[in-house]
Amino acid sequence: MNKVAIVTGASRGIGAATAKLLAAQGYKVCVNYLKNQASADAVVEAIHAQGGEAICCQADVAEASEVKRLFDQTEAQLGAVTHLVNNVGVLFEQAAFKDISLARFERVLKSNLVSCFLCCQEAIKRMQTGAIVNVSSLAARSGSPFEYVDYAASKGAMDTLTRGLALELAGSGIRVNGVRPGSIDTDIHSDGGEPGRVARLAPQIPLQRGGTAEEVAEAIAWLLGEQSRYITGTFIDVAGGR
Ligand code: NAP
Repeated sequence: MNKVAIVTGASRGIGAATAKLLAAQGYKVCVNYLKNQASADAVVEAIHAQGGEAICCQADVAEASEVKRLFDQTEAQLGAVTHLVNNVGVLFEQAAFKDISLARFERVLKSNLVSCFLCCQEAIKRMQTGAIVNVSSLAARSGSPFEYVDYAASKGAMDTLTRGLALELAGSGIRVNGVRPGSIDTDIHSDGGEPGRVARLAPQIPLQRGGTAEEVAEAIAWLLGEQSRYITGTFIDVAGGR
């Protein structure tokens, strides 16, 4: 089988680690990004250096026309898309719920949830068989009080979408699952205004440390692959025991 995976938001962090791991496992990979072309190029170069096949594609996955273009370009350059990782997620400065503006709330839902909806719809129009993994967050369970309830709400909705879509597609040959990372050492925490957040939280994590992007990528790749062929509509928490 020609395995072709789109990984959204793969210029850095968990998406980049996932793109590299999938390429090492024989997938042809489309590295999607929003702004940071140099980082996306570096991911593609690293994949080529390890003998894999990859392209990068700038597209804002919160916009329907750009999602269509992302899939068209991937199909044209790598072949029919068989696997999708909805990894894009954004958060903004930590704030109490009362201080979150409507504009910010809408922006978070659009980037995190609407993007997942659009990419899943485009994928299932085109995929005959394969798998989708949605990258949610432990925040879907915790609610992230005083930090980003908007972000947590978007991830909770993503989990519900994952479950419902998995059951709709269960007879079709396409599996849909989710991964919920806990505190993972990536640049997203700088966007929240606290680059050292993972180190601060480490003592509260049962395994006593933050996770790595590579550790999350392992779970994503497993849910995407044949080893998990009897699993759909479920979630793996990669959260050190939380
Ligand atoms: P990150 O380092 O902040 O990377 C985010 C990626 O998303 C970047 O590649 C960025 O591209 C891309 N992106 C953002 N908006 C986009 C859009 N509209 N269209 C296309 N690409 C877009 O994030 P991360 O920490 O690796 O997190 C990855 C996923 O895991 C997210 O869904 C996040 O919510 C989830 N997660 C992370 C943690 C954690 O502790 N890190 C915990 C729980 C869940 P550019 O670089 O080009 O802007």
